[in-house]
Amino acid sequence: MSDAPRYRFAPSPTGYFHVGGARTALYNWALALRTGGTFVLRIEDTDESRNSPEWTDGIIDALAWLGIDSGHPRFEGPYFQSHYAGAHVAAAMRLFEAGLAYWCDLTPEQVQERAKASGRPGYDGHSRDRGLEQAPGRVLRFRVPEGTTEVADLVRGRVEFANDTIEDFVLLRGNGTPIFLLANVVDDIEMRITHVVRAEEHLPNTPKQQMLWRALGHAPPAWAHVPVLVNEQRKKLSKRRDKVALEQYRADGILAPTMVNYLMTLGWAPGGDEEIVPWTRIVEEFRLEDVNHSPAFFDEKKLLAFNGDHIRMMTGAEFAAACAPWLESAPWSGGRIDAGLLARLVPLIQTRVARLSEVASMVDFFFLPSAPVDDDAWTKTMSSEFARDVLVEMESALGSCRWTLEEIKACLERFTEARGLKLGKTQAPVRVAITGRTVGPPLFDSIEILGRDESIRRLATAVARLG
Ligand code: GLU
Repeated sequence: MSDAPRYRFAPSPTGYFHVGGARTALYNWALALRTGGTFVLRIEDTDESRNSPEWTDGIIDALAWLGIDSGHPRFEGPYFQSHYAGAHVAAAMRLFEAGLAYWCDLTPEQVQERAKASGRPGYDGHSRDRGLEQAPGRVLRFRVPEGTTEVADLVRGRVEFANDTIEDFVLLRGNGTPIFLLANVVDDIEMRITHVVRAEEHLPNTPKQQMLWRALGHAPPAWAHVPVLVNEQRKKLSKRRDKVALEQYRADGILAPTMVNYLMTLGWAPGGDEEIVPWTRIVEEFRLEDVNHSPAFFDEKKLLAFNGDHIRMMTGAEFAAACAPWLESAPWSGGRIDAGLLARLVPLIQTRVARLSEVASMVDFFFLPSAPVDDDAWTKTMSSEFARDVLVEMESALGSCRWTLEEIKACLERFTEARGLKLGKTQAPVRVAITGRTVGPPLFDSIEILGRDESIRRLATAVARLG
């Protein structure tokens, strides 16, 4: 049997795929790729009241978007935890037969009453030596040994837990179903997992799980608990407060390579000064030992800046291909986009957007039959005393100039200088007449691309509107 490492990602499909989960998945994926190991995807779907198949599909789809492709030779799964309930129960029964677990008939209320009376929180081991047999309503509890449990964590170092702070925890509920802790360990054992890399919130489970690994006759895996992601107030990212769904960022036009790069560098940095690094370099350099212990700030502004950088790194053709679906889904496109026109727009917009969702409203005026005039923009720019003059002048000048960028610009410059104005001022009404807005891609380039007839028509329309 190969001794290559086996990593796993074990999400519970109970909601939108969280960016923190995405980071954990990427860590595992990067490690599996570098070490020639395997990435196992296990869907922990045992909480029937909270699971749904859509969430599972969402996870698989989001992983594929991030490049964690279920068709890759290093990818194994998905496995579904709910298919292995038999193995979970069997493992618990083995522990009982070996004397490492025992049945207990106390109800949760009775456990609480006893704790209150004794002043010691938690279950007091009441049934440890009562020799109870299995019966409906009885829970199976693990007999926590004396001593200490030392967890060797690749991120956090050695963490020691005194066993007397850990109660004899439940393995099987009163209805016979296994609890998460047990299912998770049994699956990891069965799937021959060598490295458990997961969110920090599972650290308190780890001593219990390590005891279970040993009790079931196996050396525990290497553990690594990665720090939580926090918001600007240093509070743990939560779906109630923060934008945490990967899907939302994707729908917003964040590129997959940006998301991968950004998530990987939260709490970890590649060597050198650059922050924008390709996946291949991340895979080569990423080490759990270098992951920071403290919570990592998920900074949306920084993510946007990263995205702008990644957009700038694309070739024109790549950028056009990335924009195309966004334009095709804009209501005015009818699902089709003139590829030749888009190719000409690329140099104007690639340097100006931070996310793909901005593209459609930036270039719509090229595709629409007339300028989509915004009322505020109109009021703000068309009330200047020279607005009408500049439009009339441009209408006539553009009718006879040579159709080059320089000549188009010279038309407006001549008017501007003759009136002793500034180009920024005189551009404004022309921009609104042509594009409908006060901001957008460079004006003279836009006029050149739009063409002589269409530009003149838009200027004339604006003059007519001014009356
Ligand atoms: N299913 C657990 C979760 O989504 C993960 C447990 C683990 O990684 O061990 O939080």
